[in-house]
Amino acid sequence: MSTASTLTTTQSSDRNGIKQYYISKIDEKEIELKDKVDNSRRLQAQRNDLNARVRLLKEELQLLQEPGSYVGEVIKIMGKNKILVKVNPEGKYVVDIDKSIDVNKLSANTRVALRNDSYMLHKILPNKVDPLVSLMKVEKVPDATYEMVGGLDQQVKEVKEVIELPIKHPELFESLGIAQPKGVLMYGPPGTGKTLLARAVAHHTDCTFIRVSGSELVQKYIGEGSRMVRELFVMAREHAPSIIFMDEIDSIGSSRIESGSGGGDSEVQRTMLELLNQLDGFEATQSIKVIMATNRIDILDPALLRPGRIDRKIEFPNPNEEARLDILKIHSRKMNLVRGINLRKVADMLSGASGAEVKGTCTEAGMFALRERRVHVNQEDLEMAVSKVMKRGEEKNMSIKKLFK
Ligand code: ATP
Repeated sequence: MSTASTLTTTQSSDRNGIKQYYISKIDEKEIELKDKVDNSRRLQAQRNDLNARVRLLKEELQLLQEPGSYVGEVIKIMGKNKILVKVNPEGKYVVDIDKSIDVNKLSANTRVALRNDSYMLHKILPNKVDPLVSLMKVEKVPDATYEMVGGLDQQVKEVKEVIELPIKHPELFESLGIAQPKGVLMYGPPGTGKTLLARAVAHHTDCTFIRVSGSELVQKYIGEGSRMVRELFVMAREHAPSIIFMDEIDSIGSSRIESGSGGGDSEVQRTMLELLNQLDGFEATQSIKVIMATNRIDILDPALLRPGRIDRKIEFPNPNEEARLDILKIHSRKMNLVRGINLRKVADMLSGASGAEVKGTCTEAGMFALRERRVHVNQEDLEMAVSKVMKRGEEKNMSIKKLFK
């Protein structure tokens, strides 16, 4: 009897053990299953993502493989679905319109795309932005005056002689029988008042001031440089009397020997040749004057400066102490200074600074006063501003020095 009972207890404990074993096995498998389900979900999501990318790439490929279209300009609407279109340089065509295009949206001069096989008009293109508009800054008589220029007496005198006199009194040159100068080159370090004086001379001669940067001319619209130069002079003629101010002229007018024969350079050369062409082509009597400015006269092509083109060179050095005092006075004229400020001392501290840095000192001093909620600028503000401006200059030089190391 006792043996039988021992047997049944062992049997039941075995069964329990097996049950436990299976339960733990089931748990294990359930966790595994959960993992697998999660994994499969993640993979499905990945597949969907990749499918979407494939679809996008296929669409892109299709677009890329599509034959190119011709770009044309509508000349005239001939009927409900016939349009006369000009395609450069091929000629004029009467073309059909795609069903998706609304004829009413078309008018003369609209830019359109034509299929390259059937010449069907299938797209209306946005109007071209004329690069000239974004490239040039035109000021109908600028607001700068000679009174706003500090120091630079000699430079003002020379500019008056070369630009102002011929525009105001062309008869003087006629009676003497000499040709008017066409323009001047202003050179010197940055921020020495070249642009300022050019604008001032335009103001005093009631000229339209057309400003264009040499580097933008060749970099912004590659391949359009020479056209831009041509149009610049056309524009100057339309707005005459006018002054063309070309800043950073060294980027198109640098010595041709220096540049290699790369594609980019030939573009620069073409622009430069067109510029020389235009300079030779226009008559100074047409009341157009050209002022060029550069910080790098050393690399400039001498061809630009040949007589009959840009006749005069005017140097703009950094201001000396007297000039700095003058510039300080000009820029602090409208500032609320406390009495008894020693501007000469400030000018003295700014040794080696450019005109723009002197101007910057005044602005900085104003900022110091503002920070302390004062309405007056005092000597200390100015002196702190000097050290800030001069330190900035040193840092700039430092980084250049580091570059060259
Ligand atoms: P960049 O070579 O960089 O084009 P720039 O010589 O044309 O420089 P400007 O643009 O004329 O320099 O000068 C920058 C600012 O500095 C001007 O707005 C002007 O207010 C001030 N400035 C420079 N020189 C003088 C000066 N002699 N008299 C008065 N203000 C000056």
